[in-house]
This record gives sequence, structure tokens and C-alpha cells, in this order.
Amino acid sequence: MARDYYGTLGVEKDATPEEIKRAYRKLARQLHPDVNPNEEARFKEVTAAYEVLSDPKKRQIVDLGGDPLESGGGGRAQDPFAGFGLGDIMDAFFGASTGGGGRGPRSRVQPGSDALIRLDMTLEECAAGASRELTVDTAVLCDRCHGAGCQNNSKPVRCDTCGGRGEVQSVQRSFLGQVVTARPCPVCRGYGEVIPDPCQQCAGEGRVRSRRTINVNIPAGVAEGMRVRLAGQGEVGPGGGPAGDLYVEVEEHPHEIFERDGADLHCSVQIPMTTAALGATLPFKTLDGEEELEIDPGTQPNTEIVLQGLGMPKLRSTGRVDGRGDLHVHLEVVVPTRLDGKQVDLLRELAELRGETEPSLSHNGKGGGGLFSRLRASRGHR
Ligand SMILES: [Zn+2]
Ligand SMILES: [Zn+2]
Repeated sequence: MARDYYGTLGVEKDATPEEIKRAYRKLARQLHPDVNPNEEARFKEVTAAYEVLSDPKKRQIVDLGGDPLESGGGGRAQDPFAGFGLGDIMDAFFGASTGGGGRGPRSRVQPGSDALIRLDMTLEECAAGASRELTVDTAVLCDRCHGAGCQNNSKPVRCDTCGGRGEVQSVQRSFLGQVVTARPCPVCRGYGEVIPDPCQQCAGEGRVRSRRTINVNIPAGVAEGMRVRLAGQGEVGPGGGPAGDLYVEVEEHPHEIFERDGADLHCSVQIPMTTAALGATLPFKTLDGEEELEIDPGTQPNTEIVLQGLGMPKLRSTGRVDGRGDLHVHLEVVVPTRLDGKQVDLLRELAELRGETEPSLSHNGKGGGGLFSRLRASRGHR
């Protein structure tokens, strides 16, 4: 039997959270064991009622005719409230006085599960954030029976097979003697009651599948695998139980130019040998639009130019954006491969002017422009 939590606190069924809190405080002052040791049992009951009615999800279970503290017998696998820590609440508020939460029928009303949908996003959308309309397909409350599962305001009746206990026992003889096993009642599936006249829209489930459109705002700075939680937008539970949450998981589409490393972006561009030697200012497309890329005269292959603050927004775990990463441009110097006669003449002339007609290999001294100092120099390049 579902406990009368509203009656225990002496409030109406439509009481506001403030009224519930006020009623509990008033009763707790009268009944607290420090004040009134004889009323300890009632104090526990009142406290349990407040625990239930001050929690919107548990209160919803009560309003749907269920009992969130009726856990169906401790740590059984099918205990729908196992994840809610209700066993702890039972221990804390009832102790052994209720007989340790004896076995009983399980509640028809159970919390719904979470749902997950994936959302394909471009790098640009991840950078700017996005507002999207999503089509979700979840269980929602049956609007004909409002979760009760009964047709035309009929009521569930006690299951005859198990006598309302929700489980049946069978006795088997074995070489050990008589073995008594209990299993959930096959007729009522452990609920202890059956619905003789089920709602025709939901077949007594209290919920129906429905496709609907919802709006979701994805914050700037999200990345592959991140999830946005929409509370209460998941599956409505059996018997119209409170809905789980809906998670929207970001699937980041690879960008054709930029590669992402956390908040930093990397890309590789090719410049002709002559540009590397002479220097230039080139237009360059970033996520923020067109910028100018300064190529210094004498730029060496594998030089990296860092454009500070032009990377991705840094999304903190608080959900706030805190600054931006950098955009790293890796320069590749392209040496021409097909030269016509005039170009060969010009390059020869250049080689002559530079005294490079009879080239020889030269090794960099250890302290000079070696590999490591070149890497250092390119990192310092801003
Ligand atoms: Zn229905
Ligand atoms: Zn039964």
C-alpha cells in the first residue's frame, strides 16, 4: 500500500514546496526526539514524508499512485529504485522499526531511463555554438490515462494469483529436502495488482512512444564526444514515472583545412620558394574571416606562424568560455620542379650572383643554426 505522505505532513495534494517545508518544520519542532522522545517513530515518518515530497521526482511517483520508498525488497536486481540510494534513506529514517523493509510488490511507477542522440557538427559550429531543432523519439506520458494505465478512470485491482504480494512461492522436493523458492508473480509481473480494463491508447503502460521536435543550444567550444544534458527530456518511465534525461552527444565533423588539438588549431600551407625568400603579406581565411598572413623575407621550410587567439573557444567544465586557443600555420616551401629555359637561365644567374655555382655541402655548427635552434626559432615566431 502506498503511504499517505500528504496526510502525514498534513498538507493538501497541491501544496507548494514552501508549504511542504513549513509544515515539516512545524511538525519537526514538535516531534523531534530531543524534545519529545516518545514521538520518535512519528518524527521518522514525518521526515520520510518530507524527503519524498520535497523531491520533485519522488513526489511525481506519489502523485501517480506509486510509493518511491516501496523498494520491493532491498537489493533485488529488479529494484527500480536501486540507483536512488533509497535503501540508505530507509535505514536512516526507519531503521529496523519497519522490519527492515520487508518484501512486497514493486511499484508500477518507475523512473524513466536516459536517452542519447548524436549530433553532427562542423568545426565552425563547434567554434560558434549552435542552436538546433532535433527530432527525438521517446516515451512520453499517455495523455489519455495520464500514466495510470486504466481505461475510463477504472482502478487496478489486487492480483488474485499472489494475493497482492507480487511474488509467488513454489515448493520443490529435492535430495536436500523441501526447497521453497520465491519468484515474481507471472500474472501481475510483481506489481501485486492487475489492471482489468487497461487504457486502450497505451495498453496499460502509462506511456506511449512519440516523436517530437525540441530545441537545443550547444555552447561554443564543444568537441567530439561532449554531451549536453537536457533534464527531464528522456524516456518517461513505466506507469508514467518521471522522465530520464536526454543527452545530446557532439559528433565533430573533420574540417578540410584545420586540424583540432584541444583549443588549438593547426593547418599547413604551401608557399613558393620565391615567396619564402622575398617575403609577402597573403590573405588567409580563418574561422573569424579573412586575416593577413605575414611571411617574413628569408622564411625557412617548416616555419610555424602562430596566430594567437584565433583557435577554438576554451570551454571550461563550468560551461563558460574562458579565452581562445591559437591557430598554428605550418609553412611548406615548395621548390619548383618544372622549369622552362628562361627560368633556368634566371636561376643560374642568381646562383652566379650568390656564388653558388659550385655548391658544396655545409654542416651547421652545433651552436649555430642547427635543427634544434631552428625549431626554437620557429616557436618564437609570432
Ligand atoms: Zn494510457
Ligand atoms: Zn500477482
